[in-house]
Amino acid sequence: MPVLNPEFLAALTDTVGPEGLSLGNAIPERHHADWSGTPPQAPLALLRPASTAQVSAVLRACHAHRVPVVPQGGLTGLAGAAVPSAGAVALSLDRMNAIEAVHADARTLTVQAGATLQAAQEAAQEAGCLLGVDLGARGSCQIGGTLSTNAGGNGVVQFGMMREQTLGLEVVLADGTVLDMMRPLVKNNTGYDLKQHFIGAEGTLGVITRALLRLHPAPRARATALAAVADCDSALRLLRRLQTHCPGGVAAFELMWQDFLDHALRWTRTPAPLAQSHPLLVLTDLSGNDEPALTEALEAVLGQALEEGLVRDAVIAQSRAQAASLWRLREVTAEFPTHLAPINFDISLPLDQLGRFADRCVDALSERWPGQRSLRFGHLGDGNLHLSTDARSLGGLNFDEAEHAVEAIVYALVAQAGGSISAEHGIGLHKKPFLHASRNPAELAVMRAIKQALDPLHLLNPGKVFDPA
Ligand SMILES: Cc1cc2nc3c(=O)[nH]c(=O)nc-3n(C[C@H](O)[C@H](O)[C@H](O)COP(=O)(O)OP(=O)(O)OC[C@H]3O[C@@H](n4cnc5c(N)ncnc54)[C@H](O)[C@@H]3O)c2cc1C
Repeated sequence: MPVLNPEFLAALTDTVGPEGLSLGNAIPERHHADWSGTPPQAPLALLRPASTAQVSAVLRACHAHRVPVVPQGGLTGLAGAAVPSAGAVALSLDRMNAIEAVHADARTLTVQAGATLQAAQEAAQEAGCLLGVDLGARGSCQIGGTLSTNAGGNGVVQFGMMREQTLGLEVVLADGTVLDMMRPLVKNNTGYDLKQHFIGAEGTLGVITRALLRLHPAPRARATALAAVADCDSALRLLRRLQTHCPGGVAAFELMWQDFLDHALRWTRTPAPLAQSHPLLVLTDLSGNDEPALTEALEAVLGQALEEGLVRDAVIAQSRAQAASLWRLREVTAEFPTHLAPINFDISLPLDQLGRFADRCVDALSERWPGQRSLRFGHLGDGNLHLSTDARSLGGLNFDEAEHAVEAIVYALVAQAGGSISAEHGIGLHKKPFLHASRNPAELAVMRAIKQALDPLHLLNPGKVFDPA
């Protein structure tokens, strides 16, 4: 077990007490890694502060003793950003999980960073409101983690990402300074919008301790449909028609390629929802207050699209249970690690290029490894393609070799297309070697300058996103 400087240990114990500090074998193994498959690493210590004041004191002590700190949320991140670096302490926010206030009229939610996304969603719902971000990891991921990765998910087409939900933040800087930006103001043009720096920063600039989130009126009704189309251009035309017919009401518009659906049906033992196979499936939700009107809108748009041949087949869910079973197919991604050795991509592209780009990737991979298996799905409304290549289908390469070779092919195509190598999962450790494919040298220099200004000793989540110098 690594020996901690006794003075440092005493400062930590004084701050968080024995219930907030674990060492050696007492650190639960879940704090050694996240969901990304990055090799686990035991932290020097696990700290679980119970208040902003404690976070501040912990960071002050780490700063004084030059000990690196890795913030941890629900550990569902897919980029390796929350995996402890050697010689770092892990700082978990899980004891700071209070929902502090919900103001239905002002449509705001004040929450501590360690609350799960689901707890925040439920608190909003109880007040007749809706939190605009939703994703499969909702039960485990925390508000601090979703903000630090600027998470997206299924609702982005309607409400945007975590950044768009954020009115205020409280952040503790590397030296322990508490930066209070918890103002419930929609408009505030008073110089730099400092909170934006911490959203999507993956814990490299500060520790988020509280957030003031914007809420939306809760829709009272939802209608769900699955439609088969020939290609992404047709899917995009269908999206625009739904948005025109039901302005503001398209709550999700998810793409599943046929190979994804085939696997999802098999793994979930679900009967096929459509009679035949089709190249591309769209799972869409409309939200509003009048269920018959939403169903009518879906019927009208899908009916006309079927007549014109834009849509090849479609089914509208007749009950909440049917809608849930269609969504279970899309959320089968949580089972990927059980069934595949997945090399995951999270690519952002101009909306009208997504389909051709997805084909180009699969063609390039198949040319190199005939018989390779890649499952494609995504959020069309936000130009976000997810591709998961099964490393076991690449002719006997070990996982690391396979990952490296596949990434080199796919990220070269992303750079050519002017896309982003990370639409919503972040850079962390996994995508760090490829950051230059999506950021130019001037942008990287400004990012380094911001890091230098806020964390000159490079103690916060070191080695993640980019190397400072
Ligand atoms: C089944 C599944 C489905 C998913 N679906 C989606 C999806 O649809 N869209 C999407 O965007 N992502 C998705 N993800 C990825 C993941 O859920 C998100 O990245 C989530 O936002 C991570 O939150 P977390 O609390 O688990 O963070 P962690 O994994 O614990 O940490 C992520 C990063 O945030 C930092 N961090 C955590 N808390 C704080 C804090 N309080 N202050 C400062 N930094 C902090 C960490 O240091 C790390 O850099 C999915 C993951 C899984 C497993």
